[in-house]
Amino acid sequence: MSESETPADAPEPFDPTPAPSPAPIPPATIEAEVSCRHCGYLLRGLADTGNCPECGTPVAHSTVSDELRFADPAWLRLVHLAVRLIFWQMVINVAATIAYLLALSAWGSAGNPVLVLLIGLAAQSVGLIGTWLLCVPNPADQHPVAPVTRILARTGVSISVGLSVVNLFVQAYWTLNISREALLGINLLASAAQLVTTVSQLLIIATLARRIPDAAMGRRASFLSRALGICYSGLLASALVTSFVGVSSSTTMLAMGCVNILFVLPAIIFVIMNFFLLIRLSKALKKQYQLALQEPHLPTSGEPPFA
Ligand SMILES: [Zn+2]
Repeated sequence: MSESETPADAPEPFDPTPAPSPAPIPPATIEAEVSCRHCGYLLRGLADTGNCPECGTPVAHSTVSDELRFADPAWLRLVHLAVRLIFWQMVINVAATIAYLLALSAWGSAGNPVLVLLIGLAAQSVGLIGTWLLCVPNPADQHPVAPVTRILARTGVSISVGLSVVNLFVQAYWTLNISREALLGINLLASAAQLVTTVSQLLIIATLARRIPDAAMGRRASFLSRALGICYSGLLASALVTSFVGVSSSTTMLAMGCVNILFVLPAIIFVIMNFFLLIRLSKALKKQYQLALQEPHLPTSGEPPFA
């Protein structure tokens, strides 16, 4: 390339004359699609020195930044609760799985299967509330999470809970006489719902982390959304192949076993990483909530912005 050899980017000669002192600038008007950080009122056309006509929050608060400490404290408290609930869902699930495996190895049976399913349903319900709250949009978001991500997270977690209830009824009242194929279908659908929920949750968490702002945490959450997405997809595909194609020979059975280990081991590591990510995020969100409360001139009364 001959262009790269010519000094096209030579610096401009330095101008030593000082820039004229600027004349007093009239208050600028908001030209972008900025919403009030407290009530979501569209502020376009207003002076940036004024107040929101709806709730009185200074306009400058909404234009300053998308950082969480400038967000509405009520919304932040909700998001903090959401992350804690998702964390507790994980704790209940992990504790229940360990108890299940211990019981299985000690007595050859995990005891009452209905009890196991009930604990699973309790965890799912905690996760349902957490995910639902995590998807509550903040009216003042300048870079909101794509609505499709929120819809997928809520749909995924709702299907998970619904299938847990179905599973419970099937196991508790086997008289429902459901076929083995149908039960398999329920489990596969539950795995797919889990996949969708986890990936969407992590995408929303990545957006939150970037607004702390904590770029490293944002990258970690994005990475985990892809990593867990790949692992869960791999396991789901493997389960689909095993269920519908079938494993005819011992060679294919061995191959499927290898494929499973290939996805299960990284998945365990990524789930542990997700566990610590949620602890870190929960602490960070609590701090952001406290900072947001200290922001001056915030109206203390009024309608919650997410009615
Ligand atoms: Zn407002």
